[in-house]
Parts: sequence; structure tokens; C-alpha cells
Amino acid sequence: RSNAEKFEFQAEVSRLMDILVNSLYSNKDIFLRELISNASDALDKIRFLSLTNKEILGEGDNTKLEIQINLDKEKKVLSIRDRGIGMTREDLIKNLGTIAKSGTSAFVEKMHSGGDLNLIGQFGVGFYSVYLVADYVEVISKHNDDKQYIWESKADGSFAISEDVWNEPLGRGTEIRLHLREEAGEYLEEFKLKELVKKYSEFINFPIYIWASKEVEVETPVDEDESSEEEETSESSSEEEEQVDEEDAETKPKTKKVKDTTYEWEILNDVKAIWLRSPKEVTDDEYNKFYHSLAKDFSDEKPLAWSHFTAEGDVEFKAVLFVPPKAPHDLYESYYNARKTYVKLYVRRVFISDEFDEFLPKYLNFLRGLVDSDTLPLNVSREMLQQHSSLKTIKKKLIRKALDMIRKIADEDPDESNNKEDKDAEKASDDNEKKGQYVKFWNEFGKSIKLGIVEDASNRNRLAKLLRFESTKSGGKLTSLDQYISRMKPGQKDILYITGTSKEQLEKSPFLERLTKKNYEVILFTDPVDEYLMQYLMDYEDKKFQNVSKEGLKLGKESKDKELKESFKELTKWWKGALTSENVDDVKISNRLDNSPCVVVTSKYGWSANMERIMQSQSL
Ligand code: ADP
Ligand code: MG
Repeated sequence: RSNAEKFEFQAEVSRLMDILVNSLYSNKDIFLRELISNASDALDKIRFLSLTNKEILGEGDNTKLEIQINLDKEKKVLSIRDRGIGMTREDLIKNLGTIAKSGTSAFVEKMHSGGDLNLIGQFGVGFYSVYLVADYVEVISKHNDDKQYIWESKADGSFAISEDVWNEPLGRGTEIRLHLREEAGEYLEEFKLKELVKKYSEFINFPIYIWASKEVEVETPVDEDESSEEEETSESSSEEEEQVDEEDAETKPKTKKVKDTTYEWEILNDVKAIWLRSPKEVTDDEYNKFYHSLAKDFSDEKPLAWSHFTAEGDVEFKAVLFVPPKAPHDLYESYYNARKTYVKLYVRRVFISDEFDEFLPKYLNFLRGLVDSDTLPLNVSREMLQQHSSLKTIKKKLIRKALDMIRKIADEDPDESNNKEDKDAEKASDDNEKKGQYVKFWNEFGKSIKLGIVEDASNRNRLAKLLRFESTKSGGKLTSLDQYISRMKPGQKDILYITGTSKEQLEKSPFLERLTKKNYEVILFTDPVDEYLMQYLMDYEDKKFQNVSKEGLKLGKESKDKELKESFKELTKWWKGALTSENVDDVKISNRLDNSPCVVVTSKYGWSANMERIMQSQSL
């Protein structure tokens, strides 16, 4: 175009596009839901802004918050258009090419190691999936604050921007035109597009229309030279029509009905929000699909659990929470940096934000879901909402429900109940789908539960119930604190544990010699985060935790210990003198050893040897 200005894609974006263009990936369908999801986001944005400024929507068709799909079979062009917020020239340049999203290089890396293209939306680069099916793409966009522009690219490392003096004015919003590749012809079939919308975009909260053909019968005048015989046999007519024919016979020309094709906007989704329905009426399959659409997670895996509830009282809201099957790729990478939660806030069905930091505590950031509140005011800014007192109540209830939901994964998992005292064999055999789900949960999100224990004092006990670990008696399996307590020896007061770098290393530890021999069970903590965990987890169900490598281990039979202490007093005294006091605090008779002659124990309030090791490795 004569007025075009050319730009280079940012390098990572360019690499990503190369991958997509050359992809032999068979499921190219994903581009459509990414475009619809972007359209929906853009509509959410304009609707949110219109809450505080009605004028922003404009008038006429501009006020229709909808998505339209249109196909031109001749030109092989598929277009998706929305009346969302649109993009200014600046937005087009930044959002579609020159500024790489934080997920871009992570996604490129994933693709190089054979990752699943399906997850493109989760990395914030969904738009580029258009190049799976198109070799040339035009993005026409009109934002209230700017003129209408065209962004275009053939995925050859560059894109161009021009002021749009060619197309019809959009009013407001964005139209994406995909010039489909030869082999992507199936995306010009209505039925294919309808099927895809049904499958992946059913839960979009704005109406999605397709410009669809429709077979109709139309009346056309009969030529005078056509024989009247033909007319009588060709069309069957009702009594009524016959009458009309008779009456009008002289004034009206004769007509016949013929099949014809017309076009009209056909709606493809049911816009009723799933969370407003009664949980009893929503099927598992619908929850699964809703999760996929909400989380942009289109893997084959189902969420591990969900909770759909209504909160009543001072603060009223409905919520749906999901435990995803996999942790988000950057869950722990950006744990302490400001990162948005994955729970979306709606107020009376209007999407407000998914960046409410205060909505869920960090350790529950892996949850997906939404909250729709009737109590919060609609016409205030996000910042003001963020301060609203209702949020505290919502947060509290969400945490409670989330922890219940996670506990239920364990409760319903037959693998878990096999170890349990009160096992209900009938119930356990009922549900094979739930088998092994808690271990799966634990492997993905166990670290979050541990961080929760560190961060959330008010729910520490509830979280501790969810802890799993191996112990000297768990036989390579995971076990829980409740199970540990049920196996404690008579007279055993404390919950015993040891920390280290691996199970193998710990099992050889001299600290365990005598304990193992005496049949005490010791928890083996091998994750670096466990050290932090145990600084916060002081007790559970009235039992204290005792690190067996630290001072203070008591195993009953105090009297015998006292005797020994007395008789070896001279030796320990000499020894303490021999080792300089700078290196050693004290020398004591030990109750933990069996074969080894001596062991170095750390003091009760100091770091454990393992903690020293962790701190050292971090400072290197
Ligand atoms: P994401 O949707 O995760 O942000 P995408 O690659 O799908 O990532 O889109 C990139 C950006 O392009 C969006 O964040 C948005 O700013 C902009 N964008 C894409 N499609 C539209 C649209 N239909 N209307 C307005 N902005 C859009
Ligand atoms: Mg997107």
C-alpha cells in the first residue's frame, strides 16, 4: 500500500512465527478460538470502560457487543470481527509484533522441545496462531482515540501499518482477515466453523454470529408461456393458498415456490453464564469445557477438581473454582513478583479484571476460576474496587472453599482412603476416575501447599492436613500427618522428622540409627522448601515437631538417660574442652545412635545442617 510504514517483528516473535508457519501440527483448529478469545477480551474491555462512561460505546451498531464470523469462499478469506475496544496505531505496532510478551521465549523453547501447540493461549501469544492456517493476515482496527488502521503481514519477518482508506469504516473494533492457505480450505466451510465454535467457544460471554447460508423457499412469478398444467402438478398448495389464488386470480400474476439460498446472521452460542445456573443442572462435561475455555487450556486433561457455589449474607457472590491438571508454566518462577491471579472478577456478569492481586493469596495462584458479585459497585474504577471491604470477605470464603475442594480430591481418591483408618471400600471402588488424583495434585502443587503453610497462619492447620511426604515407614509412598499420628508409638510425644537432600542420603543418616531400630517413624523432608516450611509448622493436632538432627530429641525413659549422663560426665567435660567452644556449643550423651560412635547435632533454634547447605548454595 502506498501509505504503509514497514516494521520488523521483534526477534522472538519472528522465531515464533517461523515455527507456526512451518508447523506440521495437525490440529490447526486452535486459531479460531484464540481469535474469538481476543475478540471477547476486547469486548470485555470496552464494556468495562462503558460502566463509568456510557458515551464510550457510541450509538447504533457500535453498541452491539458481539462477534461476527464471515467467510468469502471465492477470495478464500475468513474474517472475525468484534465491536470491542479496538487498537490504536500504537497498539497495533506494540501488541502485534514489536513487543514480545514474557511468555514468548518460554513458548518458543517449549515448541523446540516438542511441546504442545495447543497451549499457545496460555503463553499470551495466541494471536500468532493465525499463521497455522493463513499465509497473509490483515488486522483492521478502529479505536475511539484514533483513525482506522490496517496491520498486515505475510509472516516474512516484517509487518506494515497503513491508515485505512480502503475498507468500510468499522465504527469501532477489530476485524481480522485471514487469507487462508491452499490446504486450509476446510475453514471456509460453515459447518466446520460452527463445530469449532461449539467445541471451543461455547462459554464466551458475547454472542457469536456467523454469516450463514439458509435454504429458503421464495415465490417467483410464473412466466405466461409456462403451461398451467405444470403449475398445478409442480407445487402442492394448501387450501388457504388455493383460496387466495382463486380470489386474486385476475389481479395478481401467478407465482410458484422455488428453493433459493439467502444469508443471515446465525447465533452460535448460548450466552447464559454457566455460573449463574444451579450446580445441579450443570453436567461434568460442561464444567470440563468451561474450564478449558476459562483457562485457555485445551489439553486433553480434565481439571482435578472444581467448586461451584453461591455465597450469601452481607457479601453475595457466585463463584466457580478449578484446580487445573497442570501447574502454569511460570507458577514458581514469578511467585514473588507481582503476577495476576487466574481468578476473574465479574460484577453482575460484567468482567472487571483478572489482575486483582488481593483476591487470592499467592500460594493459591494456581487456581482458575471466577467470582461474580452482586454486592460490589459497578460504576467505580478498578483501583477503588480493589479497596472495597467486600473483597476481604470474598477472599476469606474463596480460600476456605478452595481448601475444601483440595481436601475433597484426597477424600475421594481411593488410593488415599486405602491408607486411611476409616476406609469405605465400597465408595472407593466406585470411582476409578478419582484414583491417584491426589498424588497428581501433590506432584503439581505440593509446593504451593507448603508455601501456604509458611504464609497463611490462619489456615495453617487446614493446609497441614493436605501435606504429603515420605517417611521411614511409608514404603516409598506418600503419607500424611494424620496417618503418621495414627502410627505413632505409645508414649511417643513428638512428630519426628529429618531434612536433607535426598531420601537415599537420609536413610543412611546416623541420626536415624537408633530411631529406626526402636521402630520410630521419621518423616523425610528432601525439598529445599521444607526447611522453610518447618520453621513455621510448629505443631499439628497438639503434637510438636522435632527435627531428629537437632538438640532436644526425647524418646521417653528419661531416667536411664540421666544415669548415663552422670557416668560419662567426665568424658563429655574433657571432650568439650578439647573441641574449642567456637566450633561446638556442648557435648552430650546421645540417645539417637546405634552403630556410629558420635554425631554432630545442631542447636534447637539454629539452622539445621541442611539449611546451612541450602543457604550456602544460594549465596554461591
Ligand atoms: P493475549 O490475548 O494473551 O494477550 P494474543 O497474542 O492473543 O495474546 O493477543 C495479543 C494482544 O493483541 C492482546 O493482548 C491485545 O492487546 C491485542 N489484540 C488481539 N486481538 C485483539 C482484538 N480483537 N481487539 C483488540 N485487541 C486485540
Ligand atoms: Mg489471546
